[in-house]
Amino acid sequence: MKNEKIAAIIPAAGSGERLGALENKPFLLLGNKPLLVHTLQKFQECSEVNEVVLIVRGVDLRLSMGLVSEYGLTKVVEVVEGGKRRQDSVFRGLQVLDRREVSFVLVHDAVRPLLAVEKVHEIIKATREHDAAILAIQPKDTIKHSNGTSFVESTLDRSKLWLVQTPQCFAMEILLKAYQRAMEDDFAATDDASLVERLGVKVKIVEGSYDNIKITTREDLELAELILRRQLSPAA
Ligand code: C5P
Repeated sequence: MKNEKIAAIIPAAGSGERLGALENKPFLLLGNKPLLVHTLQKFQECSEVNEVVLIVRGVDLRLSMGLVSEYGLTKVVEVVEGGKRRQDSVFRGLQVLDRREVSFVLVHDAVRPLLAVEKVHEIIKATREHDAAILAIQPKDTIKHSNGTSFVESTLDRSKLWLVQTPQCFAMEILLKAYQRAMEDDFAATDDASLVERLGVKVKIVEGSYDNIKITTREDLELAELILRRQLSPAA
């Protein structure tokens, strides 16, 4: 499509409040550079992505801008201060993009640095066809539902379950409308697609990769080091 502009929002403004979570994860080193730099480089490398908006905590603005210039991340058009929840941070990114005539928007967590660029191409292709797409993998474990107690309420049919990853990709006007509606209704969700599903839009599932892990704890970081080493020397 001619004149099609594709942008990515990278939320990196979390504070690591969950139990056992690492502090200020996007700036931790993976290999020889910060997690966040690995993540931004994936979008810099992806030929279809035109612009990137990075969302960080206010205290990290200066450090982030320094990394953007040090690593030549020329697609980063703005570095913006995030909000209280992930949803507030992404909404700020969307407000920036609303002024920039974007056709499709990818949202990808800064703390998933092992994403393969081919997956970005795949999800963009699916979004051109379906307006909304997510990367997801099937669980290897059986999943039980407990209804908030320590007793099993039911066993879910694993073949129908998907563990959701990012990036998620949407037609810009759909994601913007979904966010505006969620904010008006005070509806909170932990991923972007949930907000789009509320509009009645069907979200396409694109098979993700088990390598595309979200780094939350120290163990995740250790695992990420192993995956990175394998990715850098695939023949080994
Ligand atoms: O909170 P969660 O672990 O799901 O965070 C996923 C991503 O969202 C992380 O990259 C984190 O930095 C970002 N985030 C954000 N603003 C918040 C909370 C999380 O940008 N207020």
